Amino acid sequence: MPTQPLETLFRSEVLSMSAYHVADASNFIKLDAMENPYSWPEDIQARWLESLKTCPINRYPDPEAKTLAVALRRANGIPEQAALLLGNGSDEIIQILLMALSADAAVLAPEPGFVMYKQVAQSLGLRYLGVPLLADSFELDMPAMRAAIAESRPALIFIAYPNNPTGNLFDADAIKEILSLAPGLVVVDEAYAPFADASFIGEMGDYPNLLVMRTVSKLGLAGLRLGFLAGNSAIVEQLHKVRLPYNINSLTQITVGFALDHGEFLLEQTQTLREERALVFQALDETPGVRAYSSAANFILFRTLNKAADDVFASLKSQGVLIKNLSPQGGLLHNCLRVTIGKPEENQAFLSALAVALK
Ligand code: PMP
Repeated sequence: MPTQPLETLFRSEVLSMSAYHVADASNFIKLDAMENPYSWPEDIQARWLESLKTCPINRYPDPEAKTLAVALRRANGIPEQAALLLGNGSDEIIQILLMALSADAAVLAPEPGFVMYKQVAQSLGLRYLGVPLLADSFELDMPAMRAAIAESRPALIFIAYPNNPTGNLFDADAIKEILSLAPGLVVVDEAYAPFADASFIGEMGDYPNLLVMRTVSKLGLAGLRLGFLAGNSAIVEQLHKVRLPYNINSLTQITVGFALDHGEFLLEQTQTLREERALVFQALDETPGVRAYSSAANFILFRTLNKAADDVFASLKSQGVLIKNLSPQGGLLHNCLRVTIGKPEENQAFLSALAVALK
């Protein structure tokens, strides 16, 4: 140990934080992390392995991932005039954005939202402000958002579209109003775009402060860690200064490029998951003692009405099904659980286990 106490070495914000906890999922039916449950067709996998043979892993990767950037632009319909920033997952992009802000900047996000916005903002000592969503609909509380924007003058606002963990798409006109009111940047986080029929990519020309963030994780490539941010080049240029030079490794660059070039099977998997989402939602909606919230993502949030969510979660776990217990976060998430849509047999196992847990 160093001679100086840790309390004097680390920032107080870091000392008071808890690490982001990832549950050990071995031997569980894993429906906790919004992953695509499907693997790759064998012929595609064989071709992919062949393509990796040419990967020069003795060299540093292309620092700008130029070939991959072209594939990402094409696959996501990114306008030519928008600049791109790639990250080791969109988690890293959140970190890059926040690291680049002034030390006294305020960061605003609706809550409940993706926890990493708050986690990273606080770890960097920024002023973080969570604005509660409306309790019944999980829509943006616009009077509260207007007041918070006017008062805190946030340098950056995060809006997840669809939102995690509630699964809904906020009213698009409300987001446009936020884009107009915001004195700083607005990041529309479209992590769940493959499961939604809505996007702000088409709005980038109208709002110079709009940055659209996406990831390949939910599409089925979570293990590769690749996210990207598209927006105004003068803004993105500043972010590149904070990015570490080789943040996207060579295997990820080749593999994501390959997957996007052979992307038909990923779209089919996504379509199957959307169909399964409708079935799981209907089953939850018809389950007494449960309120399910409709979702435009690959997960469904639901509330237990007559039993504590902690107990239902524990019972599911004891039956071998791992979902996410959001109830400890409290507030609007009291007694809420989130299930990721899996393969049909996994979803069935979850629904059967839930029936037992609710008894
Ligand atoms: N944004 C949202 C809204 C998310 O839910 C997640 C993952 N849970 C991320 C970003 C991060 O995704 P990744 O780092 O895998 O790209």
